[in-house]
Amino acid sequence: MVNNKYDYIVIGGGLNSLIAAALLAKKNNSVILFESNNTLGGMASTYEFSSGFRCNLVYDYIKWLDERVLKELNIKNNELEIINNDIYRISLDLEGKHIFFHRDNKKTIESISKISKSDADKWNDFTSFISKVSSFLKPLYKITPPNIQKIGLTDAISMKNLLNPILSHGTRGIADILRTLPMMMPELLDEWFESKLLRGTLAAGGIHHLNQGPYSAATVLNFLHQNIYSGTNILDAKFIKGGTNLLPSILIKKAKDYGVVIKNNSEVIKINCNNGKCDGVSLADGQLFFSKNIISGLDQENTCIKLLGNENLYPYVRTQLNNIKYRGSTARLHFALKNLPKIKGVNDDQLQTVFSISPSVNYLEKAYDEVKYGSFSSSPYIEFCISSLTNPSFAKNNNHIVSASIQYIPYTLKDNEWSDKLKKDIIKNVTGILDKYITNFSNNIIDSSLSTPLDFESTLNNTEGSFNHGEMTLDQFLFMRPTISSSQYKTHIKNLFICSPSTHPGGGLHGANAINMINEITK
Ligand SMILES: Cc1cc2nc3c(=O)[nH]c(=O)nc-3n(C[C@H](O)[C@H](O)[C@H](O)COP(=O)(O)OP(=O)(O)OC[C@H]3O[C@@H](n4cnc5c(N)ncnc54)[C@H](O)[C@@H]3O)c2cc1C
Repeated sequence: MVNNKYDYIVIGGGLNSLIAAALLAKKNNSVILFESNNTLGGMASTYEFSSGFRCNLVYDYIKWLDERVLKELNIKNNELEIINNDIYRISLDLEGKHIFFHRDNKKTIESISKISKSDADKWNDFTSFISKVSSFLKPLYKITPPNIQKIGLTDAISMKNLLNPILSHGTRGIADILRTLPMMMPELLDEWFESKLLRGTLAAGGIHHLNQGPYSAATVLNFLHQNIYSGTNILDAKFIKGGTNLLPSILIKKAKDYGVVIKNNSEVIKINCNNGKCDGVSLADGQLFFSKNIISGLDQENTCIKLLGNENLYPYVRTQLNNIKYRGSTARLHFALKNLPKIKGVNDDQLQTVFSISPSVNYLEKAYDEVKYGSFSSSPYIEFCISSLTNPSFAKNNNHIVSASIQYIPYTLKDNEWSDKLKKDIIKNVTGILDKYITNFSNNIIDSSLSTPLDFESTLNNTEGSFNHGEMTLDQFLFMRPTISSSQYKTHIKNLFICSPSTHPGGGLHGANAINMINEITK
């Protein structure tokens, strides 16, 4: 007979769900996890986009992984190999005067000095400043944000402790953080740099995954979020040897070893509630499963509005949920290539890195202008990697893969519908841009495939194709993430918890959401 009663039901097979399921099972709970797709890993999956060619679905590199995940799940260095290349990013210039970002900042300064002596002189002070301001945020990333609506004495005392790193810098520390967070990127950059290329490269860090231009308020907050563990290697990028889906593969194994029952091809279509408590889920194939606790790795729209349903939502909760901004802004374009591409001004042994095309702040703002008026960027911000160098199994016979993230490609268009014709136009346009930087690029292409935010929503069920299950904006940050009444990984339903990136501390392949949630609900 099928066991249909568990201590915990986990919905979704993404990174955070897998971590949560493994940790709960490690604590001797019976756990079952449901994933609607055939494969687990969510956004960290790989897939075959053209016959014989694989790619990382949404991202080719990581910025940081919560060390608590590695420790608690006993993941060893030899299981998960992280590649920290010396040159971690190259910002491309049409004339070949690229900026090379090295782990050794002296070499980065040397590269910047070729375009601006003044900017090179300021680089060390700038990286120390960003590292200091983001270090104020770091302790906040490891805790449950306070419930600001019901703040008690214990919360108030713990908040004071959290402010210690800022206070230890005196009034200067407080001033730095209060002044910097709400700034727009050009305001911050005006205080430091003159070179268009350096300013454009850094500004791109502030608009990452946002449907906002660099001139929007608080893009510096997103910049700090993306650089929280970069230290002085601003815009850091690391690769997982073997592809990003190695991480979920390890987590699946750990979860199974601890006894988690994993069911793929099992879409949850309803969270069932009785007298204000949930008691189980219904699957698309009609099966029912029961549990005293439900964990969702989905976003708020999916968990609360779609799976709980209106009948289980209070009007004030519904209003707060409706106000969450998702607004997916990034498409992925994968190219299958005959040969290793040659990039003008870059040696072959420097190709295993992240390339960005963001020549100036104004270039990025203009890219955003088109989205503001309902279209997509004709000159987009492009970030690309030759992913077959890190993952040789992605392509065979000396073929290669270039995977690019294209921003801004919105979820919906004002006067148009997404169609194959429109997607072909975007591929042609981006190919034309890449041709300017990569020798003979268009003649090297065997095949290509574009996924828009709408495509991501239909395959991954992330609302509006948002990679972060909700944008990382100032009003959706810390105790306001995902909403002011649900920022403790809890919902208005007592035994329904959420561990997805819709919760604090937001997006990134780090797993901090799941670890924080486990600490909160098992304390
Ligand atoms: C390599 C990589 C690096 C990244 N780096 C950054 C970064 O630096 N900064 C940043 O802002 N973001 C980044 N992101 C994006 C994003 O923030 C992370 O992918 C995030 O961790 C994803 O969270 P998740 O895996 O928990 O959820 P998801 O990957 O969204 O997984 C959810 C899963 O639930 C399944 N599901 C959905 N509905 C149902 C249902 N009804 N029933 C059952 N299953 C369902 C889906 O199929 C999916 O598998 C990165 C992503 C990747 C892959």
